Amino acid sequence: MKELTLFILATICLLACESAPSDKASEQTEESTVANYSIAIHGGAGTILKANMTDEQESAYRSALDNALTIGENILKENGAATKAVIEVIKSLEDSPLFNAGKGAVFNTNGENELDASIMRGEDQQAGAIGGVQNIRNPIEGAYAVMTQSEHVLLTGKGAEDFAISVGVDTVSPSYFYTERRYKSLQSAKEQEASTSMLSNPDYKFGTVGCVVLDQSGNLAAGTSTGGMTNKKYNRIGDSPIIGAGTYADNNTVAVSCTGHGEFFIRYAVAYDIAARIEYGKASLKEACDAIVNEKLVEKGGSGGLIAVDKYGNIEMPFNTEGMYRASSKDGERYIGIYKN
Ligand code: ASP
Repeated sequence: MKELTLFILATICLLACESAPSDKASEQTEESTVANYSIAIHGGAGTILKANMTDEQESAYRSALDNALTIGENILKENGAATKAVIEVIKSLEDSPLFNAGKGAVFNTNGENELDASIMRGEDQQAGAIGGVQNIRNPIEGAYAVMTQSEHVLLTGKGAEDFAISVGVDTVSPSYFYTERRYKSLQSAKEQEASTSMLSNPDYKFGTVGCVVLDQSGNLAAGTSTGGMTNKKYNRIGDSPIIGAGTYADNNTVAVSCTGHGEFFIRYAVAYDIAARIEYGKASLKEACDAIVNEKLVEKGGSGGLIAVDKYGNIEMPFNTEGMYRASSKDGERYIGIYKN
């Protein structure tokens, strides 16, 4: 009996000695770098070249990103929830005519604005999204209402609008979304339609907005909002309101928001693929982002980028286009960028 007990004890000790050090080591490396809070923001990726930008334009973009980052940081510093930071950051970008979301949304082929947005909470993987809406001032609020006040994940068109009105989300006349700049982009896209594809149109610029956050309670959240793509067919819905394509958050892994040619992001389930590579493939955040944005999407012809924050607060903002409006802060270490370098 005594021998058997000794044998069992020795076996347990051996197993513990074999597995513990490596598990612990990897836990320590990652956990020792956990941020109190992390936030990343994008304002779209695309043909954004310094040569095509005046100093005034560049500083307008920088200050809009800077302002949005401050809004998010202030919420996080005060221990606010990740979802709250995501919503307030995205609202500030939706209210700016500079970005292709809310006020600055692009036009579809009928000369109308149809907006898409989504939000996901990593804590319980609740999600909400709206697609193809024309009168919701801040589409991210509509998405949040779907998540918190309906039993659904995605509502589109009139159903989404009626639901948003019924729960008190702010609406506007569709003419609120008219901006001359975006209307002109539609005209030039139409002129070139016969000879070029949507994406080779030099006037086409992405401008979708997104935000990903790790809050001080260790919760992740992601949100995305867009007017879609200039000259898109009416009723076309892109990746931005599709959970797993344009937006994804899971406290076990990562929060992701994408921007780019939505059809590719839908087909390759880009946002979820980042999480899956981390969870099942044990990839680091950087490895997962590189493999998708700089390898798979490039190989398939999908232009764009994404922002991601993992559960340790690591931030990645990869893109395979000339530029991506972006900003981030990890515990107050701020960064704002537009071009590749
Ligand atoms: N991904 C968006 C869409 O396809 C466009 C963008 O990111 O600018 O609707």
